[in-house]
Amino acid sequence: MFAAGVPLLSVALSVAFPAEGQKLPAVGRTYVIGAVQAGLQDPVTVNGVTTGVWRTGAFLAMAPVVPGTNTLEVVCGSERLVRSFVVAEPPKAGTWKPFKPVSSEDDSRLAKPSAWRTRGTLFMNRVRPRPDDGDALYYLPPQFILRGAEVQGTDWIAVWLDGRVGFLPPTSLVKLPAVPVPSASQPAPDPAAGFPSCPPYGVPPSAVRILVDPGHGGSDTGAISPHGWCEKDVNLLQAFAIRDALRKAGFQVLMTREDDSFPALYSRPKLAYDERVDAFISVHHNATRADRNPREARHTTTYASNEKGLALASAIQKRVAEALPDITNAGAQTKSFAVCRNPAVPSCLIEVDFINFPEGEEASWDPVRQRKVAAAVVRGVQDWMHE
Ligand SMILES: [Zn+2]
Repeated sequence: MFAAGVPLLSVALSVAFPAEGQKLPAVGRTYVIGAVQAGLQDPVTVNGVTTGVWRTGAFLAMAPVVPGTNTLEVVCGSERLVRSFVVAEPPKAGTWKPFKPVSSEDDSRLAKPSAWRTRGTLFMNRVRPRPDDGDALYYLPPQFILRGAEVQGTDWIAVWLDGRVGFLPPTSLVKLPAVPVPSASQPAPDPAAGFPSCPPYGVPPSAVRILVDPGHGGSDTGAISPHGWCEKDVNLLQAFAIRDALRKAGFQVLMTREDDSFPALYSRPKLAYDERVDAFISVHHNATRADRNPREARHTTTYASNEKGLALASAIQKRVAEALPDITNAGAQTKSFAVCRNPAVPSCLIEVDFINFPEGEEASWDPVRQRKVAAAVVRGVQDWMHE
């Protein structure tokens, strides 16, 4: 029921980013994304500056911000939306102290070495080359006992394997005061032992098993688009298209999720490992950091975290880039991602497109585009198997 004079057609102005009360890092500007009903002629203004509205009703503006509380006023026709959010103060120079890692057992900051046992699953027990390095020197199986020592004044445990020192957070280890201390030259376990060292050359697709991982899920939404749609959902749609195309080409396909659940981050590479699949493909969509204009930053890329993964990532990225000629090809890149740091299974992570601006949102949710990307992924996997 509508009272006389109330328009049936509402402008339904919404702003997806920044969210009300959102805390942004120390930036000088932010992107503002939102949507109005598609097809409306009224312009949208953000703090008085007119911005274009895409045919889907989505809009993107860049707005200057200052440290502290900021207010945005977004207006379209008779609708007005006020949004406040907080921008962090810039960090004061000289407050960050780099951690100087210990290199020998003579370091005065070290407690006496003792025996330690790992407590998490394989991919959680990542021995880092430096505490502030995201990379991995080794992965340790559960219940593995090794030589370690607390580094006083820090949150890290120094451990020794193969005569090398590495670092683990205390949450990964339990101290064993009554157990003999292993030697510093104890060999590191090889989690890739028994796994193939090259792609499945000359193997029919029916004998090749691929694990497809739709990124995020559940309360972990991933990036947000102008209409307030979530990356986790478009990842699932794109992953279904990839699953279907791979199956049609004869491959065996497993999924880390097929609904809006959230498999824990490290359970995803662990599933690839436990199932001994031939390849792991994580499907994501990107967003820029607050102060970067997504329309300018837009690109497509595939990440890997080691040599094994990079061969797969390069083959897939080449085909995906061919299928998306309007998007800048950033190539295959190496970056340390939890799901890709798999020493045993070739693993990669595709960032298909950016969803935090109107054109990227529209393209990413388009089922025709999703099938095009899926076909490209299949060709990439086939290329990888024939190189
Ligand atoms: Zn993501």
